[in-house]
Amino acid sequence: MPKKPSPNLIKKHRIYLPWEAANALGMHKQSVIRWIKDKGLVADQSQKPWLIKGSDLKLFLGERKASGRYKLSAHHLYCFSCRLPQMPDGRIADYKQQTETSGMLIALCPVCGCLMHKTIKRSSLEAIRAKIEVTIQQASPRLVLPDEPTSTVTLNYGAETHVKTQAK
Ligand SMILES: [Zn+2]
Repeated sequence: MPKKPSPNLIKKHRIYLPWEAANALGMHKQSVIRWIKDKGLVADQSQKPWLIKGSDLKLFLGERKASGRYKLSAHHLYCFSCRLPQMPDGRIADYKQQTETSGMLIALCPVCGCLMHKTIKRSSLEAIRAKIEVTIQQASPRLVLPDEPTSTVTLNYGAETHVKTQAK
């Protein structure tokens, strides 16, 4: 198993480009990019190259260590305020489909009331629903009824504006 880089290698008040962060940590640039894309490392992605705040990177490296210590169960989410994995408040969460195969699990922290997010695979949703109640949010009515002609749509009046565009 590769050793996790130490947050001590990063200067808190510096802004890093991905390859600079990788150099400082003795890692490959792709690993840093993967952290940003998949693992929740905060970076300014509004322009290229992406910019990473030293403080965010330190936090991220610290959290990786922490989440290794407290193994995050499928139905727990990490609360950034408590800095601990938490069971969703009331054992309920929302799931927002984002791609074909994955989406965002959203719940409230029972301790501090903060919103917690976690990207999960669609395939792991059933296992999570066995433990907690998950409401699945659909992006729009058009995704639910892709081929339905307007005349047979029985949505309420509030949703009518969403289907009008299909009338032609
Ligand atoms: Zn919390």
